[in-house]
Amino acid sequence: MKALKSLLLIVGFFITTQAKAGFITINETQLDAIFSQPSFGSRPIDIRIGETTELVLPNLLDITTNAEVNELFSMHVGFFNIVNFYFIDTISACGSTINSGIVGCGQTPGNNFVVESGYASGSNGSELLAHELAHNLGLHHNSGNTLMDPRINGFTTLTEQEANSIHSSSLVQDNGLDYWININPVLVVASASIPLPVPEPSTLMLFLLSFGFIFKNAINRK
Ligand SMILES: [Zn+2]
Repeated sequence: MKALKSLLLIVGFFITTQAKAGFITINETQLDAIFSQPSFGSRPIDIRIGETTELVLPNLLDITTNAEVNELFSMHVGFFNIVNFYFIDTISACGSTINSGIVGCGQTPGNNFVVESGYASGSNGSELLAHELAHNLGLHHNSGNTLMDPRINGFTTLTEQEANSIHSSSLVQDNGLDYWININPVLVVASASIPLPVPEPSTLMLFLLSFGFIFKNAINRK
């Protein structure tokens, strides 16, 4: 009986210390700068971060299959022209690619992307968020010293062609004078911190099947 109690205590302690949750880090100023760089000319885009939603999805804190990526994206919160940034613990799958070096995955095009919270909070966090957002805006990979290189490389450059392509995305809104993109962060947790209504999954974007991803390892270029 005593041994069983100890075991239960140990199990209880293990579960308590294993409670996990993503966390949100978004540097709106840095994102604004990336989407207002010179290649955007007279049409800079303002990144507008809206309300955060918390989703209790303990099975999706560590994503290892593309089915789980799709399951997460099916939770889309809000209208189709609001991008959801999902923050989880780890991701190692995106589309047909399985690799532990993956730190983010975004629909291309689409309105959902997911990142590792720990990586998003690091010094290349804005580069990661901007890269995945650019996938949502329709951009594919473009190897080199650019934002759309498939690896985090310290560069956030977008070409004029890419800037024009971004402007053709339905995610970019305007009033004839200003341009902006609305983004709502989604925090994925193992258990609720506050009671929230369960959101209804959006079916609007389920037809979007292609994905872009980014690796954390930088390439050494000669
Ligand atoms: Zn990518």
